[in-house]
Amino acid sequence: MDETLTPIYEQVLRRNPGELEFHQAVREVFDSLGPVVRKHPHYTEAAVLQRLCEPERQIIFRVPWVDDRGQVQIHRGFRVQYSSALGPYKGGLRFHPSVYLGIVKFLGFEQIFKNALTGMPIGGGKGGSDFDPRGRSDGEVMRFCQSFMTELHRHIGEHTDVPAGDIGVGGREIGYLFGQYKRMTNRYESGVLTGKGLTWGGSLVRTEATGYGTVLFAERMLGTRGEGLDGRTVGVSGAGNVAVHAVEKAQALGARVVTFSDSSGYVVDPAGVDLELLRDVKVEHRGRAEDYAARRPGARFVAGGSVWDVPADVALPCATQNELDEAAARRLVAHGVRAVAEGANMPCTPGAVAVLREAGVLFGPGKAANAGGVATSALEMQQNASRDSWTFEHTESRLSEIMTAIHDRCAATAEEYGRPGDYVLGANVAGFRRVADAMLAQGLT
Ligand code: NDP
Repeated sequence: MDETLTPIYEQVLRRNPGELEFHQAVREVFDSLGPVVRKHPHYTEAAVLQRLCEPERQIIFRVPWVDDRGQVQIHRGFRVQYSSALGPYKGGLRFHPSVYLGIVKFLGFEQIFKNALTGMPIGGGKGGSDFDPRGRSDGEVMRFCQSFMTELHRHIGEHTDVPAGDIGVGGREIGYLFGQYKRMTNRYESGVLTGKGLTWGGSLVRTEATGYGTVLFAERMLGTRGEGLDGRTVGVSGAGNVAVHAVEKAQALGARVVTFSDSSGYVVDPAGVDLELLRDVKVEHRGRAEDYAARRPGARFVAGGSVWDVPADVALPCATQNELDEAAARRLVAHGVRAVAEGANMPCTPGAVAVLREAGVLFGPGKAANAGGVATSALEMQQNASRDSWTFEHTESRLSEIMTAIHDRCAATAEEYGRPGDYVLGANVAGFRRVADAMLAQGLT
């Protein structure tokens, strides 16, 4: 890390004790910014980085609700409104037992640069709760979402803060949250949430966008070396929204997807994942990876373990943070992996990223590779603002253009700073400069 940045990073550690994921996310960005602060000292003079590390607003609230047995349950809700330099705060809600302030801040911090990189008018934010929707009835999930929104509604709005989904928050949860927002405010304000149902303000392609975009990014990276996904084997982790649509798009581009996983273990399917069966098991029935293997001849389930033990030409980690560590990266390299694109947020540990970069593997960081989701959320906001709804083809072609632009912006920035092919530097620097310039123009806020 550049010596001018070290004291700022040390201050982040002191002011945010115990928030390990947040420290990791800040460090990852700071490691790229040395050449920028040396070339443009006015960013340091205006304390842009210190300001970016301190969210504009952090809200923590109680979420009481009653379960199916009549017992009162108490959870903790979060919304961290990080940066509004480029537009209303924008970023998903995560419902998972591991959620605490450090996770929400890491995700919100990354979101600032990701959103800037899309070139769209959206700021950065993130939120969620330590509530676990898995194993809960629809009625319980609804009551939880209603209680969560009863507090959150006073902090959000189409021009203020626009949440969406993330782990544990899909179409069902967004529906309950939107219904309660409407009831609390007495306004049909479609643009307050994205990821809505298609008959009530949602956008075609939003559900698919993160997974599709990640694969398009991987294809574009491979293209710089005259390669592509056609005929390649692909390993995917996770079996949620991002993973399922990454599988779909990779197959559409001619790849054979040989793995997926969930929190119980992973599946190896040498013939190529049966997308219909995967959807039926994980999306329709909210079942386990093991159920897929039981119904699919030739596939096997491995309890626990690492999905990255399975050889693949292209790896798409689409589950959660820090799921691909240094040892896993070494195995992927030993098996000849060509490219890794992060569908999840920060799924590769710093050690893993170092191994991949050293081995010359194409590496697309989540900030760039999974930005198709939030970009399509911004397209949903555009449609809501104009009371319009676009066709699947039109929206998908916009997504594809945006992913190409993000890729090319990262590549050009890496080139400009003397590190061709370094998408980590390209993404961090291009995202940072856009948001930093807006902050400078807007004065000390
Ligand atoms: P989902 O809740 O739909 O799916 C998450 C999947 O990951 C589930 O299959 C879950 O398993 C699995 N998983 C969770 N934790 C682990 C673990 N420790 N080990 C193995 N598998 C695990 O979430 P999404 O698909 O929406 O999100 C996945 C990632 O993508 C997250 O990092 C998210 O922040 C990121 N992302 C999502 C976007 C979106 O548009 N949804 C946008 C940009 C990034 P199980 O089924 O057992 O719960």
